[in-house]
This record gives sequence, C-alpha cells and structure tokens, in this order.
Amino acid sequence: MKHPEIIFATRNPHKVAEVQSILNEYGIQIRSMDEVLEIPDIEESGQTFEENALLKARTVFAHTGKWCLADDSGLEVDALNGAPGIYSARFAGVPHDYQANNEKLLEMLKDVPDPRRGAQFRCVVAIVGPNFSTTVEGIVRGHIIHEPRGNKGFGYDPLFVPEGYQQTFAELGETIKNRISHRAIAFRKAATILLRLFQSTT
Ligand code: IMP
Repeated sequence: MKHPEIIFATRNPHKVAEVQSILNEYGIQIRSMDEVLEIPDIEESGQTFEENALLKARTVFAHTGKWCLADDSGLEVDALNGAPGIYSARFAGVPHDYQANNEKLLEMLKDVPDPRRGAQFRCVVAIVGPNFSTTVEGIVRGHIIHEPRGNKGFGYDPLFVPEGYQQTFAELGETIKNRISHRAIAFRKAATILLRLFQSTT
C-alpha cells in the first residue's frame, strides 16, 4: 500500500537514517524536513519532551500540510531526580559537547554507589496530521557506569548499560541498539498508529 508522504522534523541526517531503518519493516518511508522546506531551526522551548516534540511536528505540519513526525529524547538519571532530561544535549553548557556532558554527569554521580545509579533514556515521538495530533513514548532502563566504554553511538552511550546487558550502548553498536532503544520503541509505536490511520482512510 502506498501511504501519504511523511515528513520527519529533524535536520540530523544520522537520525533520519536511524529512524528510517526502524520504520523499514513497516513499509513506511520518511522524508527529512530539509528536503521539503526551508525554515529556521525550531527552538525547543517546551518544558517537557512531549511539548518539544509536538512543537516541532506542529510547526512543520503548519508549513507543509503533510503528516509529520518529530521526536525529543534524553537521559533521566534516578539519583539526579530525572536530570539532565530535556537539557540532555546542553547539560554542560555547550549544545552537543558530548564529552563535557559525560564528564559533568560522572562528576555529579561520583559519590553515588552502584545500586543507586539507575537511569533511563526516554524518547517521545509526536505524530501530527490533518485533524490529528498525538504522542507516544519509549523508555529503556539501565544504569550509569563509572568510566566511559566503547566508541560507537553518540551522547551518553559510552556511560549507559541497558538492563539485561553487560556492555554499554557504545559497545553494543547500532544493530542491538536499534532493537532495544527508547527511539526504536517509540517509533515502532508511531508506525503502528500511522499504519492504522492510513488503513482507515483508504
Ligand atoms: P535530541 O532528541 O536529538 O534533542 O537529543 C537530546 C540529547 O539527549 C542528545 O544530544 C544526547 O545528549 C541525549 N540522547 C538522546 N538519545 C540518546 C541516545 O540514544 N544515546 C545517547 N544519548 C542520547
């Protein structure tokens, strides 16, 4: 079945590739917003992952009138009451300085013993289309180790060991990560919703 065009509200080509590979098994094709429109960066000014994801998807829908997906994600550490959360990218000040973020996190957790180093990655995906708007979420639980390990992935991957594994996301690599990650869980839920919606309108 050919489905309506779906725009993914991100400028990050790695994210487009990762999400496309998750959606392939549903026969869903996405296009990056950069392919279809020229607008300035959308500021993530919300107070929650949900608000930020909806903000991005609604903005791109308003410009294109097409079905849009957008996500917002981050790391929530139990001992820090859920921080860095929506501030994950700019935790240490400079956006996307992954090494500085990881160093700051290790410093804040230096006196926290193993049983209290639980954490989770959370991803919220917004789906916005004609007369339709909703969010779904994916969570992967794990814990934060004491030293970075592994060189695959990005962000906090070298410090995060998912539940049921001994290795960090940065050691496990993308095949396993794309099976169990917060983003994979959230986008699979989004895919199921989209397929149901498109079936009922064709
Ligand atoms: P965004 O959803 O692209 O805005 O991601 C926000 C930030 O959360 C990233 O810059 C990373 O610091 C962190 N993050 C989100 N997902 C992951 C992941 O899968 N691995 C490591 N860090 C992540």
